[in-house]
Amino acid sequence: MDLSEKLAILADAAKYDASCASGGAPKRESRGIEGLGASTGSGICHSFTPDGRCVSLLKILLTNFCLYDCRYCINRRSSNVPRARFTPEEVVSLTLDFYRRNYVDGLFLSSGVIRSSNYTMEQLVQVAKSLREQHQFRGYIHLKTIPDADPELIAQAGRYADRLSVNIELPTEIGLERLAPEKSGRTIKLAMGNIRVAREESEAEPRAPRFAPAGQSTQMIVGADETDDRTILGTAETLYGSYQLKRVYYSAFSPIPDSPSGVPSKAPPLLREHRLYQADFLMRGYGFAAAELLGDAGNLPLDVDPKLAWALAHRERFPVDLNAAPARVIARVPGIGMRNAKRIVELRRARRVRYQDLVRLRCPMDKVKPFVVTADYRPPLAETSSESLRRALATEPVQLSLI
Ligand code: SF4
Repeated sequence: MDLSEKLAILADAAKYDASCASGGAPKRESRGIEGLGASTGSGICHSFTPDGRCVSLLKILLTNFCLYDCRYCINRRSSNVPRARFTPEEVVSLTLDFYRRNYVDGLFLSSGVIRSSNYTMEQLVQVAKSLREQHQFRGYIHLKTIPDADPELIAQAGRYADRLSVNIELPTEIGLERLAPEKSGRTIKLAMGNIRVAREESEAEPRAPRFAPAGQSTQMIVGADETDDRTILGTAETLYGSYQLKRVYYSAFSPIPDSPSGVPSKAPPLLREHRLYQADFLMRGYGFAAAELLGDAGNLPLDVDPKLAWALAHRERFPVDLNAAPARVIARVPGIGMRNAKRIVELRRARRVRYQDLVRLRCPMDKVKPFVVTADYRPPLAETSSESLRRALATEPVQLSLI
């Protein structure tokens, strides 16, 4: 099998990992090298550096052979898919080649488990070490870690990688036992805890070697079992608090050929994944707790976004007076983000905020106006029930599908 055939298989196999968002990369300038303009097929994803830059990464697996048989995974031992394996040298060479052609700014590398967890982790570390020490590679490296590998190997990975991720995969221990019995939630969390401690030690001691400066992330698969959004977001909240994760990624379960028993034959609506990302964003950036966003429900609504759903369920908190409320309260108004909330507070130092100011800030006025008071506007709140507002503001519940 030549390198391009391996690349086709191992880039395609990596697309199921959401820990960095997949996407076709636009063709980038090839620095004048003729005939090198086509970054064809999959294999490029985007991620964000600690300073907020968006970077393109070569996203591949070292191998899609795997000793494990996680039921939701296309690369599981019993899956009938074409298999391939790169050597660490091949991954190094591909990364440098793509980097020199200006297709990518770095590498996202994951792997099935081959021979043993330690052996697999050693191979991943070997790639990162070779890139950094032999080739002085200064691009971005995101390494997936094998949770039950020797902590010393994970420590080495953190010295070479910008970001590490340990996939929790399923939000509950019961789900993991049922669908990935060879994995242990305890071991996964232990690995996350070790990474947190190593990062804190590195940050506290200026002369200490750097350790995963872009932090750690994880992914949860949504819809592979019956777990509801309340449990998923509750798990995410705990992971953010306990392990200081930078991001939890949600990946809608994708039905796979020859599905084994115990996993659904249909994908959940992609809109559900989208609502989870919106709720996650509100938890990280707006101070919402998972329980606040869910209320008494098990799942987030699909017809309206979670912030609007929360506002409709808490009409007693509205309308918000934009000339008096603090920024954090204004940012809870549907259609007003944190940046505009700060602009509004800034603006009222000079004069009173008026309806047209919101238009100038490009706020979606249909969404905003039932919930705010300005110097020249007050909504006819008492006349509008939450149900009719919801009907008026609901987006089409598009049932996006993975297939
Ligand atoms: S260990 Fe990873 S690659 Fe292997 S079957 Fe499980 S999820 Fe898939």
